[in-house]
Amino acid sequence: MRRSPIPYDVQVRVYFRDQWLCHWCRRPIIFGPRFKYLEKWTKDNGCQYPVAYYHANWRRDAAPLLDVLGAVIDHKEAHSKTGDDSDQNLFAACNKCNTRKSDGESEKFREQEKFKYVKGQYGEPQNWDGLVSLFILLSEKYSSDLTPTEKHWLKAFNEFFCSQNLHSPMKKSR
Ligand SMILES: [Zn+2]
Repeated sequence: MRRSPIPYDVQVRVYFRDQWLCHWCRRPIIFGPRFKYLEKWTKDNGCQYPVAYYHANWRRDAAPLLDVLGAVIDHKEAHSKTGDDSDQNLFAACNKCNTRKSDGESEKFREQEKFKYVKGQYGEPQNWDGLVSLFILLSEKYSSDLTPTEKHWLKAFNEFFCSQNLHSPMKKSR
């Protein structure tokens, strides 16, 4: 998972505001750390072959889904130029678009890529959560394995759910 100086609570807000869809290609994106515990869960439940769900660097050979659809926060204006870390300058993106865009200018990137958006017959997804609920549930199961970063994420997600008057799956399961 790529390190970011943007506070966890800001990132969580932006992901949910953008409904876990990539700003550029509109593909649904997924919360990366979840896959670490999903891979562990498959092994713990008797899966003996490698499943390539997770790699810390989201490598295509070792974690192809994360390589493409792993969720990252992107800056509207490149951080190195005029960009800041306010919610308005941030949006959700897939790892593929984020890597391709690099520090390039947003409009130039959009032109180069000539995106063809996927459009569903019944509109855009309203309830996609990037698999966050699964991360919360798996985090509870593997609570003694959580890294400090994952604990920060968990806290930020739970606080977000609380602020929206939603029950976190973790609280519900107790
Ligand atoms: Zn994308």
